[in-house]
Amino acid sequence: MRSLKQKTYYPFVLGCAMNYADAERVKSVLETLGYVEGQQEEKADLILVMSCSVRQKAMDRIYGKGKIWNQWKKERPLFTVLSGCVLPEDRPKMKSIFDVIFQIKEVDKLGEMISKRVNEYEDIIPGSAYFKIPPKYSSSFQAFLPIQAGCNKFCTYCAVPYTRGPEAYHPASQIMEEVEDLARRGFKEITLLGQTVNSYKNTEEPDAHIQTFADLLRFVAEAAPRTWIRFISPYPTDFTEELVEVIATHDNICKTIHMPVQSGNNEVLRRMARKYTREQYLEKVRMIRAALPDTSLTTDCIVGFCGETEEQFQDSLALFDEVKFDMAFTAQYSPRPGTTSGRFFKDDVPREVKKDREERLTKVLAKHSAAFNARLVGKNLPVLIEKEKVGFYHGRTEHNKPVRVPAISDGEQRVGAFADVRITSSTTWNLTGELMQ
Ligand code: SF4
Repeated sequence: MRSLKQKTYYPFVLGCAMNYADAERVKSVLETLGYVEGQQEEKADLILVMSCSVRQKAMDRIYGKGKIWNQWKKERPLFTVLSGCVLPEDRPKMKSIFDVIFQIKEVDKLGEMISKRVNEYEDIIPGSAYFKIPPKYSSSFQAFLPIQAGCNKFCTYCAVPYTRGPEAYHPASQIMEEVEDLARRGFKEITLLGQTVNSYKNTEEPDAHIQTFADLLRFVAEAAPRTWIRFISPYPTDFTEELVEVIATHDNICKTIHMPVQSGNNEVLRRMARKYTREQYLEKVRMIRAALPDTSLTTDCIVGFCGETEEQFQDSLALFDEVKFDMAFTAQYSPRPGTTSGRFFKDDVPREVKKDREERLTKVLAKHSAAFNARLVGKNLPVLIEKEKVGFYHGRTEHNKPVRVPAISDGEQRVGAFADVRITSSTTWNLTGELMQ
């Protein structure tokens, strides 16, 4: 007798926003194949993993889980599917865990791969149907929209060029269709995603009016005028004056710019193969601040990269003080196999020195974050309310600052909507406010 049990899938998503956005499209394909999302990994018929090669910890977690899943496969039918970032050297090991491994640009072929149990993706001809798959958005008011994947920059510490391949761009006409649809559906925030998002080129449509990232951002902002538009992550050398002008002249493009610096020292930047000097980075900061004096500036920085001396690290500290970043993602360097630094450079900065440097950098960051937040006290700001929890609404300002506001019960649905908030106090990392009536 045929079982009436609904087939379920369990998603296991690791890593960055790009992986979460890609997972939304994979989920949509799985649902057209008759699966529904389940909450229990141990009862799922299919386990989907979007992997991340940036940190060894994530891969170790997958190997650990894989052993358990292989055990379950001996006891019941279970199908395992892998996409996301997978280094070439990790693939043989992954094949012992996963029934299907596919590149995200092959997402439209997933059904066929599952039915044929194709365990290789290298032989499949690249497709561009990514945007034809409507994503199963995990939020009804915030959307991540990948516009570019892969990377041509080959920073020596990074696995992305090997796991996601060279830069590939989604056609602007398809991006615009999705933006217009999101705007029609009342989405409040759209984040354009790419590994180096501002290197976008509309290569598939050479005669279209949208060619560069600045063009695309302008048209996106104008197609969704009541939606906040964000983008991550830009590469410093691809930040043009035209792009800054587009941001300055459109109120709905959030005035927060995340521009990864990675180090404040020229020799370290050279060894990382970043394609700018400290001076060129600071020139970009001056250009941005001249047009956008109130913008929030955030960054990524690695401490303890191979051979980094105390003096070289102090250049990063000084840069943080000079630019006054009000938020940053800092990381202690750890080598990834297959990358240039992992293969050829010595990871020679002791762990405790890396930890100490990260703490010192965080102290400088905390000082500027606290000052930025203090300047917002007394201001009335629009806040996108993301959730309600134990008597408070939690949301973010256009500067991406977390704000906590006492909830009120007046029957209004505030989660997923903009609210006018008066900022009443600040701490190093957070703001508190009250709803304006
Ligand atoms: S720019 Fe560098 S760090 Fe960023 S994805 Fe490309 S290679 Fe990796």
